[in-house]
Amino acid sequence: MTARILVVDDIPTNVKLLEARLMAEYFQVLTATNGEDAISLCESGQCDMVLLDVMMPSIDGFEVCKRLKANPETAHLPVVMVTALDHPEDRVKGLEAGADDFLTKPVNDLALVTRVKSLVRLKMLTDDLRLRASNGDELAMNHYLVSDEVNSPKERPNLIIVDDRAASYEKMVETLSEKNNVEVETNATDALFRIVEGNYDLAIISLSMENFDSLRLCSHLRSLERTRMLPLVVIAGLDQEKVVSRAMEIGVNDYIKRPIDSQELLARLRTQLCRKRYNDCLRASVQQTIEMAVKDPLTDLHNRRYFEMHFTSLFEKSISLKKPLTAIMCDIDKFKAINDTHGHDVGDAVIVEVANRIRKSVRNVDIASRYGGEEFVIIMPDTDIDYAHVVAERIRREVAEHPIIAEGGSKQVYTTISMGLSSLKFKSDSPKMLMKRADEALYAAKRAGRNQVMTVAA
Ligand code: GH3
Ligand code: MG
Ligand code: MG
Repeated sequence: MTARILVVDDIPTNVKLLEARLMAEYFQVLTATNGEDAISLCESGQCDMVLLDVMMPSIDGFEVCKRLKANPETAHLPVVMVTALDHPEDRVKGLEAGADDFLTKPVNDLALVTRVKSLVRLKMLTDDLRLRASNGDELAMNHYLVSDEVNSPKERPNLIIVDDRAASYEKMVETLSEKNNVEVETNATDALFRIVEGNYDLAIISLSMENFDSLRLCSHLRSLERTRMLPLVVIAGLDQEKVVSRAMEIGVNDYIKRPIDSQELLARLRTQLCRKRYNDCLRASVQQTIEMAVKDPLTDLHNRRYFEMHFTSLFEKSISLKKPLTAIMCDIDKFKAINDTHGHDVGDAVIVEVANRIRKSVRNVDIASRYGGEEFVIIMPDTDIDYAHVVAERIRREVAEHPIIAEGGSKQVYTTISMGLSSLKFKSDSPKMLMKRADEALYAAKRAGRNQVMTVAA
């Protein structure tokens, strides 16, 4: 895992120091000695994260951070504030400017490397999702990062604290309860099950539990599918530097040192929760892009593209396993008249309801898809023509015998469908020929007066 880190400090010696340490870890390092240069380097997309000095002439670190976070093109870059002032107020000020983390000068090696690595890891994850989200969505996704939806959620986040010291967790509960739903688990062994089964947005885990290695819990949570992405924040005692560094290696997202500063706790959780919502948005969008490629948006059945991708392989599989396969072509009768009489919206409602009735009558292994405007195809593997005929007849009756309710109940539309069936022939057949026979059968059904199921003799 390598990344391009921008080091910003007005004092060249400080830049050199950080540069050397980061290069020793095989990071690529870029440098800037003032805020303006830093911003333009970020805008030109040349770095993956920023280490930012607070006290600089002209625009200071807080202001640089604010500007980076307000610009959709740079808002996703993790920013670590490097400050000489070890005052909690300054940490909070930095975090409120949108900084993802901070380090205090003189910079502790362990803290530098672990924080940078963990932020780079998060950044890589986000980049990957951004890449997979469709191109058109990418800008919209950048806007999410600065949008209300991500920054101030509609629903209160669900947090769980794993800590066995009442004095410690009570104070956190008090701090966090105003804006979050907070639960506490004092038994470390029960915590794993509770977190895996619960629906939490973030877990806070104490590293100093009696007779329990909290890292084991963290690594368990990281390895399980359900909690792999759950933000984990550990609470460390002052002498627990080594444990913290192990925690970061395991994939814990952040740590807070005791004594816990309430402002800092709030600000850090806000960053983690914001990142989680951002990633959730991206993941949902990736999921949607994938579904859009194979689903028909009106009926939620598979689309023609999906049908074509899978029909050939089902066809070939049936041939090689010597199993039957039947195709059903299906077309709504006199559909143009429904549009003409009741309007296009009612027409759509009829298509949706016919699709629903088809879906209810087929198995999971069958592919039911919308083939065209008011045409559907069902591919039934491992099904001979007689059984498929029974299914088709059931669907035909379901459509013909129950009117379709449209416009919120104010309209009842009666309609019928015609269907054509064709089965796989084991000698000299092709997917195309099979579909052509089903189509011919469908038109035979239309010619014979509609509202019926026809089979082409094999
Ligand atoms: P037949 O019984 O011979 O199938 O007659 P038909 O009227 O159903 O067939 P035709 O192919 O002449 O007309 C189909 C109509 O379906 C024409 C088109 O405007 C309409 N259509 C196609 N897609 C949609 C859609 O998504 N929504 C609506 N409301 N109408 C559609
Ligand atoms: Mg039709
Ligand atoms: Mg048609």
